[in-house]
Parts: sequence; structure tokens; C-alpha cells
Amino acid sequence: MKQTAHEVDTGLLVSAVRPHSPAFHAGVRPGDLLLSIDGHPIHDVLDFRFHAAEQRLQLALQRGAERLEIVVQNVDSADAGLEFEQDLGDGVHTCDNRCVFCFIHQMPKKMRKPLYLMDDDFRLSFMHGNYVTLTNLSDTEWTRILEQRLSPLYVSVHATEPALRGTLLGRGAPTAILPQLRMLADAGIDVHAQIVLCPGLNDGDHLRQTIEELAEEHPAASGKRCGVLSTAIVPVGLTRFRRGLAPVEHVEHDYAGGMIAAVSRMERALRRRLGTRFAWLADEWYFLAGAPWPGRRHYEAFPQLEDGIGTVRLFLDDAKNVSRRLPDRAPRPVQATLVTAEMAAGIVTEFAARLNRIADVSVNVCTIKNGFFGGDIRIAGLLTATDIILQVRQFRGAHEQVVAPKICLRADGLFLDDLTPADVSAQLGRPLVVSGNRPSDLCVALGLLPQARAAPISANRWLMEPGA
Ligand code: SF4
Repeated sequence: MKQTAHEVDTGLLVSAVRPHSPAFHAGVRPGDLLLSIDGHPIHDVLDFRFHAAEQRLQLALQRGAERLEIVVQNVDSADAGLEFEQDLGDGVHTCDNRCVFCFIHQMPKKMRKPLYLMDDDFRLSFMHGNYVTLTNLSDTEWTRILEQRLSPLYVSVHATEPALRGTLLGRGAPTAILPQLRMLADAGIDVHAQIVLCPGLNDGDHLRQTIEELAEEHPAASGKRCGVLSTAIVPVGLTRFRRGLAPVEHVEHDYAGGMIAAVSRMERALRRRLGTRFAWLADEWYFLAGAPWPGRRHYEAFPQLEDGIGTVRLFLDDAKNVSRRLPDRAPRPVQATLVTAEMAAGIVTEFAARLNRIADVSVNVCTIKNGFFGGDIRIAGLLTATDIILQVRQFRGAHEQVVAPKICLRADGLFLDDLTPADVSAQLGRPLVVSGNRPSDLCVALGLLPQARAAPISANRWLMEPGA
């Protein structure tokens, strides 16, 4: 049986025990390491939730040098009263691929170590919608996915032809995906698929074949209860640091237009057969082609929002909704410069024009070109503080206040190049305000709307992020 480095006995560190909970009464303490429940090793919170769904739990714990067995009684709805230091006791599982389009291989050297993390972890796919290739799984992990029925999973397919997929993943050997997708469907697990489109590699007939073969795995075609529900097609993103890697062509304006036409030609048959569009193009295709943004109905239930698909539509709809609720006059004068990346510049500028119709409001938009990564990188999520500082300084008419969307910051509150918003404020000599990503959030940040009146539409990102 295949064994990987992921199968280590690490356990989950207890960070808190709720007072008067079953675990509290049984004597579990913060700082205990939960090793197993009823003999099942616990690697992460998914293991915990799965195995804690009994009324009586036998916990194996490590407390300092001591091994303990504690029985927890009267557990209701898998809630023993435990909280854990982290979700993944054994750390993030990483990939053993060398994808021709991998963004991490195109990053400059000497950035923060976590930025080079090549995660390919089925748990993060289930919990957060990260795309996984399913190439690094041991038999034990496969058994676990099927047993715990982790659905839906987000899977990087790229191509269904095994040899081509192997080439795209840089594995040097055919890497079949369809048998794995069928195994997941048979176990009641749905999949959202992703294709990173590399011109000249997996486009044309290859793309048609991939979409058709994935569509065969949709429940409406296979007759199964579960299957491949949607497919995202995102254009490859190339940075100026791409050296020593397999040659991959840029996606240009005409190519993007051709892709929109090709996918919409397939759409009618897919909808007739499956009752869904099934394949969605990333927002960036419409930007590159200069094509109109699709309407809300195009995205159905936004099944690929995890891949950023449809975020521009959500932004536009939120802007429209919030526009109806804006005051005629600002409660206090607003003068602000909004920073954004190239892809969102058009829609942010349009919204800024609406804001400027409010008395005592003057906003303008500074579009930041990504000088740091260069190449095709045009999304706000990959802007650096250095580019923002440099280009706001050069921007004629920059206002006293500068506003950036929080998508520019990593989860730790830092920009990609390690500067904080306070650092940027200090270097600009004017305050940098970080607002939420939606137009309604921006209105709250500018004091034009109270917090409670922000529109309830969910849009995590202004723009798509490159995926695995
Ligand atoms: S794109 Fe993802 S799966 Fe491919 S090499 Fe990079 S991190 Fe690994």
C-alpha cells in the first residue's frame, strides 16, 4: 500500500475546552494533544468531526510526557466542547508536480517562505475550495476521502487525456483523471473541475475533448447521484520571472475573443443535455477580449465562485444595489483615491463616477500596473505595496485619503512584499484605508453608508486568483 509523508501521528492540539461541556467534565485540558478517537487517528478537524459523531468517545491524548485515555460521555451533535489550535494537525499537504503554468515557479526569489507553499491538500479543497490535482494521495487518504464523503471537492483537471495531463502537471508520465472522478462520484462526492488554459497545449480539440469527457461525468449524463457539476476555464498567467520553464504562450485579446466564441458554441448542446452551462470562463477572458461582462443568469448559482468566476458580475450587481441607497449629499466631505489593478479598473471607475454624483464627494481611481510580477498579472490580489506606493506618488490628483481593497492583503494583514498598510501610509504621507472588496464595503469605508446598510451580496474577491 502506498504510504506518504502525510501519514504521521501528529494529532490535534486542544486550544480551549468549553466550560461544562462533555470534554470539560471528562477532564480534557487545553494543551492536550488529541491523538485518536475510538482508535481512529486524528490528523485534522475533518477527522475529528467524522469520528466525534458518537455519544461516547474514547480519546487518546498526549499531555506532556504522559499518554492518557479519557472517555467523554453525552456528546451531542458531535460537539464535545473542544477547540483546536489549528485545522490541520499534520500541516498542509504539498504537491509533487511541476505544472508548466505553476505560479509559484514564476515567483521572484527571497519572498516570505509561506508564499512558496505548493499546497495540494484535499482537506483544503473540501474546507476552502482550493483546487487539488489528486496526484499526491496515498491509498489510505483515498479511503478516507471516500469514507468521510468529502463533497464537493475542487479538482484541477486541465486535460482529460492522460498523456497531456501528465505533461501539463510536469509529471513526465500519463496521469489519468477520469477513473478518479468516477470513483468519487460512485462514493457520492461531487466535483467542481478547473482547467488552466495554456494556448497551444490544452486548447482547441483538446479543450473540446476535456469538456465533453467531463460533461459525461455530470449526473445528468452519467445517471449517477453525484459527479462533475461544473468546469472553470482560466487563462494561464505568466510573470516576468518565468525562466527555465517549459515555453507557454500568453493569452492575448484575439485569442480570448476566440475562446469566448468557442465555449459559447458548446454551450447550447451542454445546456440541452445537462440542464446547465457546465463550463464557465473566468472573468479575465472577458477583460482580455474587451467583451461585455455576462449577466447574473449566465452564472446560474455561481458554482465556480471559489475560482473567482462571476466576481465582476457580483461587483456590478452590488454597485447597482448600493447606488439606490446612496445619499444625495455625503454626511461629511469625502476626497479619496481608490487603488485597483488593471482588470477591475473599468468597473471601479464606473462606480467612482456614480459616487461623484453625490454632493461633497470627490473620488478618483489610480490603476496600479503590476510592475512587481509584470507579465500578464492584472489582478488586485497580486498587487504589492511597492507598486501602490510608487504609482500613487506619480498619480496626478491623488487625494488625501487612499483606499485599497482588502484583497490586496494576505490573510496575515501584510501586502505580498511584507509591508503593512501603516507602512504604506507612512511612505505615502497620507492615510491608506483598507476597505472590504464590494462597492457597498467601499461606501461604508468612505462614510457614505452606515455599516448595517451594506448590501448582503457575497463576493469574496474583486478578481480571480490563479489556482493550482
Ligand atoms: S500549480 Fe499547484 S499542483 Fe501544479 S506545481 Fe504548482 S502548486 Fe503544484
